[in-house]
Amino acid sequence: MSGAWDDVVEAARAEPGGETLARFPGYRSGRGCLLRASELAERVGGRAEPLVFGRSAGGRPLWAVRVGSGPRRILYLANLHAMEFIGSEVVLALLEHLVAQPIDGVEVWLAPVANPDGRARAEANAAAGRRRFARANENGVDLNRNFAVGFSADYWMHRALPAIYRPGTAPFSEPETAALRDLCAAHPPHAAISFHAFGGWIFHPWACRNDPPPDARRFAEVAGRMAACMRRPYRVAQLGRWARWFRAHGAEIDYLYGTHGTLAFLMEVSRGGASAGRPGSWVDPLSWFNPPDPRPDVENVLPAALLLAGVEGAGGG
Ligand SMILES: [Zn+2]
Repeated sequence: MSGAWDDVVEAARAEPGGETLARFPGYRSGRGCLLRASELAERVGGRAEPLVFGRSAGGRPLWAVRVGSGPRRILYLANLHAMEFIGSEVVLALLEHLVAQPIDGVEVWLAPVANPDGRARAEANAAAGRRRFARANENGVDLNRNFAVGFSADYWMHRALPAIYRPGTAPFSEPETAALRDLCAAHPPHAAISFHAFGGWIFHPWACRNDPPPDARRFAEVAGRMAACMRRPYRVAQLGRWARWFRAHGAEIDYLYGTHGTLAFLMEVSRGGASAGRPGSWVDPLSWFNPPDPRPDVENVLPAALLLAGVEGAGGG
């Protein structure tokens, strides 16, 4: 285990604040996610290796855990968007499962908190009762518009809604995406899921265009198999075809697929948490993205995510 990781854990232990969120007790805090990963990794000694792969714009550690070994490599990523806490819960549940039952011949990388500064801001909003939308990193950049494949500084949605979709000055202008780029260059994944919220979708590339990718049939087939093993199946679509007017330029799945040939999916976890019975949830952005109890949704998604670890990659290196 690296010294950098030990220092990060020690700092997290010394930090004030709970390991769960006061207003969302079913969810861990960013600090709680890190301490949970540390605890799970310690449980199995060398079989799980946590590591620090960079620093956020605000100086927080960017960390991941590697579990298992083998010729196939899978990446599970979450929380590129600040408020989408439920994805982190999914990745931590995957970690818990994988340290107990590693998959033969598969090396799994898990990065549950890809945007720790944004997350900290969303947590602070929640703690103070501020019902504010949070998506970006410390620099106000939407990290999932900052990857190199399909990047666009002047796409109309970025200009129309700069508070939501600010793509950054250039691809990988942000330390969070640059660190992911370097991690994936050193350990290119054959398959990946980036967990977001919400909607109940499994999306595949291209996100930045509506013509199908060369591996369209493969993507649809694997996504269909993932959906089929969910108790409440998600819908499947190419992200760039989700709506006639919608494109996601500079998204992680296009980068992974376009650069490394990764069989990359973006999963919109849960149907959201706003409900008629809780009027407060209508005006609270955190509630739109995160249902009060994440467990049923985590359990729903887990078999689908694990299935991906067992299927062949998209090819193309
Ligand atoms: Zn998202």
